[in-house]
Amino acid sequence: MMNQPKRLCSACLLGVTCRFDGPRKPDKRVMDLMDSELLIPICPEQLGGLTTPREMAEISGSKVFTLSGKDVTKQFRQGAKEVLKIAKLLGIKKAILKQRSPSCGCGRIFDGTFTRSLKKGDGITTKLLKKNGIEVISEEELPEP
Ligand code: SF4
Repeated sequence: MMNQPKRLCSACLLGVTCRFDGPRKPDKRVMDLMDSELLIPICPEQLGGLTTPREMAEISGSKVFTLSGKDVTKQFRQGAKEVLKIAKLLGIKKAILKQRSPSCGCGRIFDGTFTRSLKKGDGITTKLLKKNGIEVISEEELPEP
């Protein structure tokens, strides 16, 4: 196990019940990787102090708001910092994060209008990890099972 490649991974992709809307939704492409890699589950929104389930949130400008208009930027930034801390503690340089999430999205995120429309961009955690030299891909870049 010591010599296995290691990556951080959005915990929801591994079937952890941490999604904002509650249900368990493991991703087969990610689960299959567990045979050959050590995937370290992280959920930045929980690490930032938010509950599960929680209100849907989207990035608008440099901030993050819930559907009812609550500013949760502080929690999202805190969660991102905690994830970076875990990466540094474990010497991890790569991550697989959940596409479109305001924390974990990689290349595509919801556009802040709560209409399920997408725009180019990264989630708050993805942005911080990339800034610190950690390579991030989304589960959608993994080969289909
Ligand atoms: Fe999954 Fe990331 Fe959202 Fe947590 S913050 S539920 S890990 S997408």
